[in-house]
Order: sequence, then structure tokens, then C-alpha cells
Amino acid sequence: MTQLSLAYIFQHQKLLVDENLQLPKVEKLASDLPIHHNDHVIARDLLEHESVPDGYQLIPIRELIQLWSTTEFLQASRAVQLLEWRRNHKFCSHCGHATEIHSKEYAMVCPACGYHQYPRVQPCVITIITKGDDELLLAKSAHNKSNMYGLIAGFVEVGETLEEAVQREAFEEVGVKLKNIRYMSSQPWPFPSNLMIAFHAEYDSGDIQLQLEEIADARFFKFDQLPEIPFKGSIAHSMIMQVIESKKAS
Ligand SMILES: [Zn+2]
Repeated sequence: MTQLSLAYIFQHQKLLVDENLQLPKVEKLASDLPIHHNDHVIARDLLEHESVPDGYQLIPIRELIQLWSTTEFLQASRAVQLLEWRRNHKFCSHCGHATEIHSKEYAMVCPACGYHQYPRVQPCVITIITKGDDELLLAKSAHNKSNMYGLIAGFVEVGETLEEAVQREAFEEVGVKLKNIRYMSSQPWPFPSNLMIAFHAEYDSGDIQLQLEEIADARFFKFDQLPEIPFKGSIAHSMIMQVIESKKAS
């Protein structure tokens, strides 16, 4: 009997799951992307014109994150990013020839000029800014209609260190300077292909001044009077919880 593979089957950012939100098990096809070497987990595209099999549904992965284990989240994150990378690199960015998939590595190879295109992640810093022992800065995005307040985050620019990116984003978005910037943790974030790198920093100086195109509101909130914060499973949520717990413990 053929061994079935656990399948992350995506239509863009939506994942195919059954009524109990479980992943399907499928026979492996040549076009499937292996997610881990030597085990049976694959990623596959469900094309727009292909129908959803009976008993299955397509769910945005954002909605599944809260229900998943870390392993499932990391596998799904890897699957969706590799599929997206494969879709977006069908042609050589150097000479324009159609590419081929490398047989062993994650690489799209150009048979004409030999150029290899590898999956890339975008480094993105996210910072929890505290003031004293019981306040943290939270900001509401100008692009988001919800009432959720999150942390200051942004992409690392070319030629910049992570710490410089942390300072620049905080100054651009809310006009404050930071001190004692310390690394906390990281998390792949497949929307679409980011690596979130988490820092804790202390407020140093400056009055809050909003970058209005990006930020609708930003304030220091007391730990026991927080507004609606990002959902459980997001790195922002775990950063906020971790900092509050560690301040309580100290
Ligand atoms: Zn080429």
C-alpha cells in the first residue's frame, strides 16, 4: 500500500481542511513540494478552476493559527511560502527563460543561463516598547478598521542593522526614541513571506507624534488597562504576555 502524505493544499492563503479542520492525506504527485526531507508532508496548489472535494473547505490560515500547534503553524507557514515562491518564479528574473524546479534543493533553475532563484524571507522587526514598570506603547493601524492595538513593526531596509530598523520604525511611526533594545524571539509569518524578529525596548525620549498614513492612534497603556490586542498565536500577543509576566515577576 502506498504511504499517504499529510497535505497542505492551498489556494493562495486559504488551506484545504475537512469539517473538523483536519488536513487531508493524499497520494503524492510529482508536482508536490516536499515540506520536510524524509517524511511525508507535502504542499500542493489547488488551482482556481479546481473544485473543493466533498467534505472539505477552504479556510484562511489566519483563522487556523489560533487553533494550531506550533508544529502545524510552522509547517503551514513553510508550505504556503514555498508554494507562493514557486508560483512567482516560473521565469528567470535574469534572462526571462522558463525555469525548472531543482530536483533536490528549493531552487528554481534557469536551463538557459543557469541562474538559481531561491526562496527569500523578508526580515521584519517588531518591538514592544515599555515605559517604567507598568506601561507599554500600543498603536492602532490606519489601514485596519478594527479597534485592535498592536506593536510597532516594519521591514528592515537594505543595509540596515536590526537595531537601526527598530529605532527608525519607532521614530517614523510614533516619534519616540528608544534605549536598551534587546532581542526576544522570532517567528515566520507567512503574510506573505516575513520573518518577524521581536525586540523589547525601553522608551527613552520624545513626545508621541503619529505618522498619519500608517498610524491612527498610539498611546502608552497601563498593563491592567490594555485595549484589544493582537490575537493569540501572533508573535505580538506572546510578546505582550511575556513582558507583562516578566515585569510582574520582577
Ligand atoms: Zn536565465
